[in-house]
Amino acid sequence: MSRADSQDNPPTLSIFADYFDGVSARVQRVAVSLAGDQTAALEIGPPEGEAFEWPLDRLRALPDQAHKSSLTLGRSDDPLARLVITDPAAIAMLRRRCSTLSARAPVTGLGRLIGWGAGAVASVALIIGVLIPLMANQLAQLLPPEGEKALGDATFEQVRQALGQQGAAALRVCDGPKGAAALKLMQARLTDGLDLPYPLTVRVLQGEPVNAFALPGGYIVFFDGLFAAANSPDEVAAVMAHELGHVVARDPTRIALRSAGSIGVLGLLFGDFAGGGIALLLAERLVQANYTQAAEAAADRFAYDRLRGAGLRPDALAALFKTLKAQNPGAEAGGIVSHFSSHPALGDRIAAAEAASAGLSAARQPALTKAQWRALKGICRE
Ligand SMILES: [Zn+2]
Repeated sequence: MSRADSQDNPPTLSIFADYFDGVSARVQRVAVSLAGDQTAALEIGPPEGEAFEWPLDRLRALPDQAHKSSLTLGRSDDPLARLVITDPAAIAMLRRRCSTLSARAPVTGLGRLIGWGAGAVASVALIIGVLIPLMANQLAQLLPPEGEKALGDATFEQVRQALGQQGAAALRVCDGPKGAAALKLMQARLTDGLDLPYPLTVRVLQGEPVNAFALPGGYIVFFDGLFAAANSPDEVAAVMAHELGHVVARDPTRIALRSAGSIGVLGLLFGDFAGGGIALLLAERLVQANYTQAAEAAADRFAYDRLRGAGLRPDALAALFKTLKAQNPGAEAGGIVSHFSSHPALGDRIAAAEAASAGLSAARQPALTKAQWRALKGICRE
């Protein structure tokens, strides 16, 4: 320490840091050095290619929610590139050497969050590509509802494309008017009095999987295969209530952002320049929705409350689980079974849903009338 403070021995910095060039979504581990007091630039040495310099007077400190102990540097003349420094001594030295560090940061995604409209997807890409690797989990809290909705719109299209790729065409969105009306009624009953940050978007994809999933920005997506497998509209309502729990907790946004960080969602949003595998990977992650045990349990509890509030019984969820279990005795079953059976164990969740219905009388009225239920089952055939 005394050496770094000494006038006679100019401080020398030589560390490794994470570098994001703002062009690709890749984070590189780079060597960073700053030699002596006379040097006016950080020298950055990537693992491959030539070293380059970042002039000290262009460095700006960016807000970094994820790691308060790290310093995220941007450049006043480059809105995208980032350098993340975690070494405390290096951070202290840079703060001392670099008087403009805390000057106004360059345009970041955060500065653009207000008034997202036509450019929303591009802004999401900017945010995700730039900030995710740095901010991971906390980002979900920073995304405004408009950004989340744009992310949802983009991922919904990607899911359709990726899951439909066997047939070369995107999966069909079913919107038979009678079925859609029935779905709207169910939605209205379950969301009555619920304050959502964005309007709910419920979609039905044509496909055999017995599955439903939530996407960022208030999307709940069903395959019509789920309607075919369910024994009653109450079971579908129970699934909708459960997915609503994920939406309210913003679980899909967190999953999408985390996946994006590792997979590189820039390519996903900008036409998938890194190959079709990226879209498929992210789509699979969102559809499989491997939420934590706590997130699943919370979504279940949320569903119980919503169902009770709507005059329905929480054990409709248990009934669907039982049907699925009977249809898929193997542990390897996919679709909703894997979503719902991962953890907590499916058996525990059946018991919990039944316990949540103890003492409740029969549902006042089913989630849908017979005619509405028929219409919902036929939503892809109208
Ligand atoms: Zn779930």
